[in-house]
Amino acid sequence: MQVDYLIAGSGLAGSIFAYCAAEAGYTVKVVDPATATKASEVAAGIFNPVTGKRMVKSWMAEELLPHAKTFYKQLEAQLDLKVYFERDSLRLFKDETEAPLYQKRMDEFPDYHAFLGPVLSGQELPAGINNPAGGFTIKGSGWVDTSALLRGLKKWMLQKDLLVQDHINPDDCEVEANSVLWKNIRARKLVFCEGFTVDKNPYFQGIPWRHAKGEILTLEIPDLCTDYIINKGLFICPHANDTFKVGATYEWDDLDCEITAEGKEEILTRLDAFLDCDYKVINHEAAVRPIACDRAPIADLHHEHPAIGILNGFGSKGVLYAPYFSEQLIAHAEQGKEIEERATFKNHWRPDLV
Ligand SMILES: Cc1cc2nc3c(=O)[nH]c(=O)nc-3n(C[C@H](O)[C@H](O)[C@H](O)COP(=O)(O)OP(=O)(O)OC[C@H]3O[C@@H](n4cnc5c(N)ncnc54)[C@H](O)[C@@H]3O)c2cc1C
Repeated sequence: MQVDYLIAGSGLAGSIFAYCAAEAGYTVKVVDPATATKASEVAAGIFNPVTGKRMVKSWMAEELLPHAKTFYKQLEAQLDLKVYFERDSLRLFKDETEAPLYQKRMDEFPDYHAFLGPVLSGQELPAGINNPAGGFTIKGSGWVDTSALLRGLKKWMLQKDLLVQDHINPDDCEVEANSVLWKNIRARKLVFCEGFTVDKNPYFQGIPWRHAKGEILTLEIPDLCTDYIINKGLFICPHANDTFKVGATYEWDDLDCEITAEGKEEILTRLDAFLDCDYKVINHEAAVRPIACDRAPIADLHHEHPAIGILNGFGSKGVLYAPYFSEQLIAHAEQGKEIEERATFKNHWRPDLV
């Protein structure tokens, strides 16, 4: 069998890449063992243009946000899904010292005006949130229901017979300049979308990885009536069926997908510091975010083996990066278009590691 793209992995990276390539008219086959926990299934799916302690605008926010909106809306229409939700965020101030930083952003950086909304005092916060210092709102944020998205894309792949339940061992691939042979499939390109297990792949040993495990809870909070995605060192994201996703932890050393009592306690301790209502924990999950050292995604062809590609390193931004960088990689592979410099192989490759 011959295809244009053989894709290893069916998380956000592999599934969205497959969809984009098929939409562009190329033939694809997606391979996934369907046995490992995917970060994409565990993710809260939040996208947010202004993040972190320093309230910094996300890299390429102006390009990625509208691109993601167009992509998910089109996908919703074509696959008859509802996965894309626009929701303002409410970033709570840690204490009174943070309000001046918000004001500085407003006064000195006009490009933040599209994203920063008004300040809310402690009394104006939604019932159930106790934070005397108040907070400020962020426009342009929201969340993607990644579980529903992956289910929808899996159904689409099964209907079109694009999915193979297996694992691609790189050692089993015959790699030539213009094609790759794996089992009975010859592909013009083999694109590895392996998530955090990429660090075992011999083709990518020159990339320094810095993956991070994350634990996340799903809570029922009946008395918290809000549409905001609330953030104060952790997020509370209104989710499906009147539940909230709450998290997440960052653990850099023990990279497995096991839930821990410590992870749960860390989340609930931080939550109890500002949530003033009862809740019930209904789910607890863990997975590993794939991160490359400088935290930029990587979407490129291998510098020595151009029939091999990689789409990875999405960190905490999988829902924004997957559509944009899938399209960049396809345009690069097919028309030689340049990839965003930070996402190139060259930017990530450290020859001394090989
Ligand atoms: C707790 C937590 C919260 C998060 N919250 C958010 C959030 O709010 N917003 C956001 O945008 N992102 C979030 N993320 C990050 C997001 O989940 C990731 O960036 C994204 O899901 C990575 O997708 P991926 O396809 O690269 O990897 P994965 O989803 O892990 O998928 C990789 C797949 O490849 C398969 N595979 C691996 N090797 C092979 C092989 N050789 N052959 C075949 N198949 C293979 C694996 O079995 C797996 O199914 C969060 C992550 C975590 C852990």
